[in-house]
Amino acid sequence: MAKKYDVIVIGAGPGGMTAALYASRANLSVLMLDRGIYGGQMNNTAAIENYPGFKSILGPDLSKEMYESSTQFGAEYTYGTVEKIENNGVTKTVTTDMETYETKAIIIATGSEYKKLGAAGENEYGGRGVSYCAVCDGAFFKNKHVVVVGGGDSAIEEGIYLTQLADKVTVIHRRDQLRAQKIIQDRAFANDKMEFVWNTNVEEIDGDEQKVSGVKIKNNKTGEESTLDASGVFIYVGVLPMTEQFGNLGILDDQGWVETNDQMETKVPGIFAIGDVRDKKLRQITTAVGDGGVAGQGVFNYIESLK
Ligand code: FAD
Repeated sequence: MAKKYDVIVIGAGPGGMTAALYASRANLSVLMLDRGIYGGQMNNTAAIENYPGFKSILGPDLSKEMYESSTQFGAEYTYGTVEKIENNGVTKTVTTDMETYETKAIIIATGSEYKKLGAAGENEYGGRGVSYCAVCDGAFFKNKHVVVVGGGDSAIEEGIYLTQLADKVTVIHRRDQLRAQKIIQDRAFANDKMEFVWNTNVEEIDGDEQKVSGVKIKNNKTGEESTLDASGVFIYVGVLPMTEQFGNLGILDDQGWVETNDQMETKVPGIFAIGDVRDKKLRQITTAVGDGGVAGQGVFNYIESLK
């Protein structure tokens, strides 16, 4: 017999944990499923300085605080990689690699993943100069030289953002022109703190074993190699939604992000989505938490409407 819950939250990052807190506090039975330890991407974050209530807190510490708070009203948490959701109307089933559950409502909170560049040193210096998020980490590079890798909207918008903090921002792009929207390009070209290196690949990220010191680059037209000193390397070569298991539900856009309204409802009644997995502009802990509160309350209203 499948275990039954009012609500199953898939993903125990900040979004999922907040949704579980709200739904369980409304007296619903709630299960949080995660393929790993609770906390989501917060576990990969050193210092978090933009979550209100804490001047600075380590990601794993904030994860633990949120976990304790999200389970205080009886929400359960268990391991399991969700492989399939089936929507049978009022009852839905969630199948993991270990078990099948029945539920009235589902909150998808599976987040997203930054694409890696694949350069040597990228993993080694992650969180020690290599970043995928200027809003998260830009403040650590005040008055320093940073490199941005990429040429799309995110790379150039985040590069412009970084010019307010860094001394100089060098954009390294593998093509001879940007892919970003024209208006964003115009802003970038008019910004005297931004420089551009064209037709160039980052081959290696160098450091002194503690932090990043620069990048080895190679011009893909001439083959010329050189080194650029830099304290930070911000990589924007794409973000992938963690949604491949949900394709059967008809709730994804053509890029694979989950489409919702401002109540976090998808097209399928009783299935909500929150946090980084949504098609949204600002992917942060605060925004995931905000979405989680809305959905956690929304499932209560949805389940009441079934009575
Ligand atoms: P996530 O935190 O991504 O959690 C999703 C969870 O879903 C994960 O635990 C994952 O294991 C689970 N999952 C995925 N697929 C499945 C599946 N099929 N079955 C079961 N479980 C699944 N934001 C800030 O506000 N401030 C910062 O300083 C900051 N720094 C950052 C630094 C780094 C290096 C990174 C990568 C991100 C940073 N962010 C920061 C962004 C922030 O961490 C995210 O916006 C936030 O964690 C998104 O929360 P979420 O709950 O939507 O998803």
